[in-house]
Amino acid sequence: MRKEKAAEIVTNAERDLAKRFAEIDEIALFNQEKVLKAFYNNAVQARHFYGSTGYGYDDAGRETLGKVFADALGAESALVSPLISSGTQAITLMLFAALRAGDKLLSVSGKPYDTLSDVISGKNCGSLADYGVNFDCIPLDTSAPENPDFDFPAIEKALKKEKIKAVFAGRSRGYEWRDAISVEKIGVLADFVKKISPETLVLVDNCYGEFVEKTEPTEVGADLIAGSLIKNIGGGVAPTGGYVAGKADLVEMAGKRLTAPSLGTEVGSFIGGYMQYFQGIFLAPQVVKNAVKSAHLFAKSFATQGFDALPADKRAAYDIVASIKMNSEQQLVRFCEAVQSVSPVDSNVVPVPWAMPGYQNDVIMAAGAFVQGSSIELSADSPIKEPYIVYVQGALTYEHAVIAVRKTLEKVLP
Ligand SMILES: *Cc1c(COP(=O)(O)O)cnc(C)c1O
Repeated sequence: MRKEKAAEIVTNAERDLAKRFAEIDEIALFNQEKVLKAFYNNAVQARHFYGSTGYGYDDAGRETLGKVFADALGAESALVSPLISSGTQAITLMLFAALRAGDKLLSVSGKPYDTLSDVISGKNCGSLADYGVNFDCIPLDTSAPENPDFDFPAIEKALKKEKIKAVFAGRSRGYEWRDAISVEKIGVLADFVKKISPETLVLVDNCYGEFVEKTEPTEVGADLIAGSLIKNIGGGVAPTGGYVAGKADLVEMAGKRLTAPSLGTEVGSFIGGYMQYFQGIFLAPQVVKNAVKSAHLFAKSFATQGFDALPADKRAAYDIVASIKMNSEQQLVRFCEAVQSVSPVDSNVVPVPWAMPGYQNDVIMAAGAFVQGSSIELSADSPIKEPYIVYVQGALTYEHAVIAVRKTLEKVLP
């Protein structure tokens, strides 16, 4: 497609999205205020940016960062650490904090994210299954992919049949053909679960969800949430890390799993210092705003060219991802090549499908990010399987998204 034509498609999409974009601006303002209040309430000072060594007793930076995250997420407490390697590790901490031998975990949003399948059911790898935790899974009702919902009758049946220690829900779309789940729906789920079984915990994979809406799952009844710092809440600035937030006693359990049962959240040093983590959460509402607009712009621009795309433009987005169905593997690869070619880093590299640890199919990933693997920075990825859905997410700046949508249109369309 010619450059001028691609630019025109994007301009038209922007015009159609004007009302949606105004709503996204309003959410960002709300969340910026929420984050700032978390800074004021905890009297953040320059001394909190310094690192510590050894055991890290009384590391004021670590402790204050946790309090800022807790307040910004509407949680009692939060465990935040650069030593949590990834979202998968943070979610693992959350699961091991909540579950014990003989307990049952019930996923109610279908199969959890790919990298969690070994965490839950792997053999001889220290999985929940190895420790005697049972697992079952109820698919989402995706009869309307643009408005998925929990299968409440099936959940009720499961809760009445046996004791369920924890219900697990993923907020984002994962690698599925559907939109993400709203926080409001997670609130309905939490109320529903607790009404039938007050002791059952509600655990949420919060990846890609932070600051997309005005509330977080912890504000509507979730007991624990977990996520990655190289996604939304790190604001594109945090260089690594993860968090677990929610009920204080459960967060402490996650801390005991991260360090040791005798140590919990009392220890943990980090010589590198915490400035980028404070700066990251401060910037996160703004960066998430750009990423949500990017998702809408990709989806709308490709939808006008006849592609199936989510989020549907008439609805708010509930994560930062756009999913677009390509017509062939070749188109999918071209899309990822185009995203890579307009990245600030490694623009000269050509992505190819590859076997990645933790994923079932070969995966192609376009990632020209400052922080390796960061997906709050503009990135695209896709498991190589029909129906060739490409998932594109992130954008530190809105303008980068505009440039990338133009480029992908140019490269994918004849
Ligand atoms: C990214 C992601 C994870 C895992 O995070 P990693 O940092 O890649 O380990 C889990 N769940 C969802 C929905 C994700 O998007």
